[in-house]
Amino acid sequence: MPGSLKTEAIVLRSMRYGETDRILHLFTPDRGRLSAIAKGVRRAKTRFGGRLEPYFRLQLVLYQGRSDLFTVTSAETLDGHPRLREHGGTLDGAARACDAVSRLFDDHDAHRGVYHLLANELALLDARPAAATRGNALAFRLKLLLAAGFAPQLAACAECGEREHLVGFSGAAGGVVCSACEASAFALGQDAHDFLVAALAQPLAEVPDAPPRALAQAERAILETLEHHANVRLRPVA
Ligand SMILES: [Zn+2]
Repeated sequence: MPGSLKTEAIVLRSMRYGETDRILHLFTPDRGRLSAIAKGVRRAKTRFGGRLEPYFRLQLVLYQGRSDLFTVTSAETLDGHPRLREHGGTLDGAARACDAVSRLFDDHDAHRGVYHLLANELALLDARPAAATRGNALAFRLKLLLAAGFAPQLAACAECGEREHLVGFSGAAGGVVCSACEASAFALGQDAHDFLVAALAQPLAEVPDAPPRALAQAERAILETLEHHANVRLRPVA
């Protein structure tokens, strides 16, 4: 159905296409991930300026023809997040956040919560370079899992429901497991368990710190959950 679409969007990727065009991978609140072409971007004095770059949050007007590829007809900057480009750590955090969203959600898979989560993460990395910690990256992934409906079970054994002696984590079972059910699990310490619970419950800006060993276990729990339930394999966060 040809027509115009006015929407906010975050640029996940931006690739050169031919001499003067760009293909953008965008994430939008109501249409999820979509692709658009911006024509004439590399000519001097283009109407798009330098704003069709990764991590920009934009107000766009897109034209949808007969294909799945939209055409950008206008673009205004809502937030360019210039400061996150000044530090390797924040740039890396932003790249991983956009990559995770891009892999976890398909085209036109609308997730308003994911859009706001990604916008919050980029704003946080832009405002506070020190926020680009391993804990922050893991908390972001955990919240993505929650939004995608794959949040690990943390309150009771995912196999038998036992609430005590939760000593392991099983991606296959989908959460923590007790000492009687730990055959297919790896050891998950109390501090790693506490981190997972807190990271899901707290806003991104208030994610608690945890010792490296606990973060490594938390990361493994998130990676195994993604692999088992979403068939997605993400790069390690550090
Ligand atoms: Zn059990």
